[in-house]
Amino acid sequence: MSTLLLLPGDGIGPEVIEQVRRVASRLANDLTLEERAFGGTSFDQFGTPLTEEAEAVALASDAVLMGAVGGPKWAGAPRAQRPEAGLLRLRQAMNVYANLRPAICFDALAGASALKPEFVSGLDIMIVRELTGGVYFGQPRGIETLADGQKRGVDTQVYTTSEIERVSRVAFELARGRRNKVTSCEKSNVMETGLLWREVVTALHARDYADVQLEHMLADNAAMQLVKNPLQFDVIVTDNLFGDILSDEAAMLTGGIGLLPSAALGDPGKPGLYEPIHGSAPDIAGQGLANPLAAILSFEMALRWSLGRTDLADKLNAAVKAALEEGARTRDIGGSLTTAQMGDAVLKGL
Ligand code: ATP
Ligand code: MG
Repeated sequence: MSTLLLLPGDGIGPEVIEQVRRVASRLANDLTLEERAFGGTSFDQFGTPLTEEAEAVALASDAVLMGAVGGPKWAGAPRAQRPEAGLLRLRQAMNVYANLRPAICFDALAGASALKPEFVSGLDIMIVRELTGGVYFGQPRGIETLADGQKRGVDTQVYTTSEIERVSRVAFELARGRRNKVTSCEKSNVMETGLLWREVVTALHARDYADVQLEHMLADNAAMQLVKNPLQFDVIVTDNLFGDILSDEAAMLTGGIGLLPSAALGDPGKPGLYEPIHGSAPDIAGQGLANPLAAILSFEMALRWSLGRTDLADKLNAAVKAALEEGARTRDIGGSLTTAQMGDAVLKGL
């Protein structure tokens, strides 16, 4: 018996998570679903975006699936009490250092890509982004005023061997279950952390993953290659900053953000944190317009990577593909189905 904690959150979060709940109930009768308030919704109820109790339940679960957090209503709250602060705290508490962002182009939606269909048909890239280190956290950082009245801003990129090694290990393991190729991206031509990155990935590859094809690519070239010939990629592993940029770029090669899931994983055996890549979309919240597929595909990732149910994940993936092939479309992908009707279309395939 596994436990999945649902954190619906704010905006369209509860609407898309409701469809996950329906799918999960149909698919897996040995899965216990918990639910807690999170983000602005939790702030309104408890005065904090993440209660200690909810955090404890998350750590004790097998997987955590969130909808989205944030919105204009809470933008004026103290920084530490904002919905996004709750998410950062949860990521830290769960120590999820490997962010998996698939860029999948479903054949039925190849026409919606920023590229011509023949460039993206069958596209299936897995970007593994380091999530807890790098320039977003390195010290020193800050803005200081100089003697001459100018200001000086500082960010610092720091990576250690173990930080690089653990996220690279995730990438190599993933590649083995896919097309067996890892592209490691950094800027070793101009950055010390890039040099170290390349050295550590190369050593780990030689030691434990010589059966996997490894390629090193400078991150700027990777940005170009993603648009020029995206089908060349299988798994991409890169640091926090380059991963942020490359994964957003890759998202535009697919049918749109309403379809893209993500996972954040920590050490093996620890719960993963799953979420659609889209935000709380306040502009369409409460209207039944949200596409629930990104959330449903995030649940598929949870089945695969935390709940040990690859069989059910495959089944769910097939149901989503079937729904799209039969023409099920919410507004964001050119149709008129409501959130619940898209849920119905997936349930039909199950
Ligand atoms: P955040 O900062 O929380 O990531 P954001 O400003 O990047 O938020 P999103 O909330 O992701 O933005 O929304 C961007 C646009 O995409 C909005 O117009 C929104 O309505 C649309 N959108 C986002 N998610 C969905 C979805 N699941 N279905 C349909 N449209 C969506
Ligand atoms: Mg965003």
